[in-house]
Amino acid sequence: MKATEYRSALQPVWCPGCGDFGVLKGLTQAFADLELAPEKLGVISGIGCSSRLPGYLRAFSFNSIHGRALPIATGLKVARPDLTVFVVGGDGDGFSIGVGHVPHAVRRDVDLTYAVMDNGIYALTKGQASATTPIGIKRERGLAGVDEQPLDPVLFVLSLGCGFVARTHSGNLPHMREMFREGIRHPGFAFIHVLAGCATYQTKAYQEEIRGRTELLPDDHDPTDFRRAMDVALDERFKLGVIYRRPPVAARPAWAGGGAPPPVEPREEPTPPDDAD
Ligand code: SF4
Repeated sequence: MKATEYRSALQPVWCPGCGDFGVLKGLTQAFADLELAPEKLGVISGIGCSSRLPGYLRAFSFNSIHGRALPIATGLKVARPDLTVFVVGGDGDGFSIGVGHVPHAVRRDVDLTYAVMDNGIYALTKGQASATTPIGIKRERGLAGVDEQPLDPVLFVLSLGCGFVARTHSGNLPHMREMFREGIRHPGFAFIHVLAGCATYQTKAYQEEIRGRTELLPDDHDPTDFRRAMDVALDERFKLGVIYRRPPVAARPAWAGGGAPPPVEPREEPTPPDDAD
């Protein structure tokens, strides 16, 4: 199938120049690269601008409840381990109201790919500060919580023990496509931090600063080295690529990216009590 054949008839209502257009394109390209059949795809989101994305796809799509995309996707994958389940949402959805679900999705290690389109703002509700808004932006725009430290999504999920962590930028289509492919291929919970542009509520200076701070991981980066991955997460610059990838665990249930579930052994009927005496 061609990437365009994964699109539904619905036309996106995002603002012109929104970074979410690139994410939609990168995702359909990754689906096409992996030759995933639409009837074997589940795409789940929460609420927000970026959470509109599932509606624009040919798949089992569900634009669900604010902050609850991960538990819903977990339920889908456990019930239908044959589906590839992809979760999308924004920083407000995933790291403010929904943040309590992230540690549990990581520790359960259900075979989901979770792409967070982080534009550092609640865009759908007109630009309030989210958990990832930098202090400088809060001060500049008079947003609430000016002195609250932002949460770093990559550092957060790494510290939780996430088995696959990558970062990409919504303006770099080939890179996004590759990161989505890698995340889907990973057997277990995969987290992809997408630095996403908001053409309406981010200032030009902020967009340029983020873009200027991104660079590709060096070729010699070893994604199996956890300490190195933590150094990358702590770096001032936004390094793009697969930051950490845990070697696969041998035996895993189907919902966690393993093979078919083992056959159920027939139950041995208990011997009836001998009531002769
Ligand atoms: Fe995209 Fe921002 Fe417009 Fe929302 S408000 S659709 S994030 S550009």
